[in-house]
Amino acid sequence: MADSRSPDDLITRDQRRVWHPYAPPSASPLFEIVEAQGVRLRLADGRELVDGMSSWWACIHGYRHPHIEAAVRDQLERMPHVMFGGLTHEPAVSLCERLVAMAPAGLERVFLSDSGSVAVEVAIKLALQYWLSLGRPEKKRLLTVRGGYHGDTFATMAICDPVNGMHDYFGEILPRHLFAERPACRFEEPFEERHIAEIADLLANHCHEVAAVILEPIVQGAGGMWFYAPGYLKRLRELCDEFDVPLIFDEIATGFGRSGRLFAAEHAGVAPDLLCVGKALTGGTLSLAATLANARICDAIAGGSPGALMHGPTFMGNPLACAAACASLDILEAEPWQARVAHIEARLREALMGCRALPGVSDVRVLGAIGVVELEEPVDMSLVQPAFVERGAWVRPFGRLVYTMPPYVIDDEDLAIVTGAICSVLEEVVC
Ligand SMILES: *Cc1c(COP(=O)(O)O)cnc(C)c1O
Repeated sequence: MADSRSPDDLITRDQRRVWHPYAPPSASPLFEIVEAQGVRLRLADGRELVDGMSSWWACIHGYRHPHIEAAVRDQLERMPHVMFGGLTHEPAVSLCERLVAMAPAGLERVFLSDSGSVAVEVAIKLALQYWLSLGRPEKKRLLTVRGGYHGDTFATMAICDPVNGMHDYFGEILPRHLFAERPACRFEEPFEERHIAEIADLLANHCHEVAAVILEPIVQGAGGMWFYAPGYLKRLRELCDEFDVPLIFDEIATGFGRSGRLFAAEHAGVAPDLLCVGKALTGGTLSLAATLANARICDAIAGGSPGALMHGPTFMGNPLACAAACASLDILEAEPWQARVAHIEARLREALMGCRALPGVSDVRVLGAIGVVELEEPVDMSLVQPAFVERGAWVRPFGRLVYTMPPYVIDDEDLAIVTGAICSVLEEVVC
């Protein structure tokens, strides 16, 4: 194929000039996509793929949902963008009101930003400013768990899993935070006090210097696709209260229904002091993220010096993105996403459990609309990616993890294309 390409070929042009995520220059294999509609992605050569990734957790209602498109088009005709310093507008205010109304109890104020990494940076900055405002500048370290993923900027990389986050590679540049083992008890297993002993010890020994505890509740995403027991979070909330340390939940992957609850924190019935959302916030239409804070954080910062959160992205509160987010929330409110996610969960369980017996498969796990097959060895993407495309599914494994989190609107037939492709690629190409 490569040889028959002309120099004007899009793939060739891309490989000459463009970086792709976590890929070397001249990323390969690469597929040209020209259209997306519903749960289908159409390639330039006419092939159609069923989307098993929701464009990295984001496109929960499928592509080109008419309600979101109408909202964006309407906003485009009034005001696609305006600065947010000193100005405000209906889409941003409505969105913040609605996020507060739907989020776990106590979160009362919203900082809008343009990507998940920045939303986490803002949560970290809020936690640091909280302690600065209270005259406790020594409280500046973060406590987290291994296996986490919180973004690619430097502050967020420093709290990603030390191995996946390449802490050795970036060495001295990253601040040194505190890490406990990833929560060991599976989602469906009973939680026991021993499961939290290490992080409890770290909190007890370091609470004088810890600014906040940060983690992904229930579902660890890109750091390992791991689901852990709600009891862990309940107990962690108690420990944070006991040692007077704010708790940050990063729900950028899990927010808006993915785990079967609107927010994964609801599985445990606990609320954080700071909450980060992103990814599915606009239904995958535009880049937008948000950091929600409770009164404890907001009041301390307002009462301290300088009395303001020192952050302000140029495209903060972009009206197009806020309009898309409001429209996505309309759809969540109007449609039976819980039933759909529960149905997808049951189907994923049925379809993927068969992979468990394959040689080379070490674990299969499903929660909400997330299905994961963990392998003993990393997959060879140069073989596996084309194999999925040949089977009509867009699934993008990562290391030893082959996983799917399809749009909630996927029907049984299309879901069977995705799960069938996973099973057959594993059987015929990988194992
Ligand atoms: C994707 C992700 C981020 C980073 O979001 P970006 O929009 O890619 O910057 C942070 N935390 C979690 C849990 C994520 O899944």
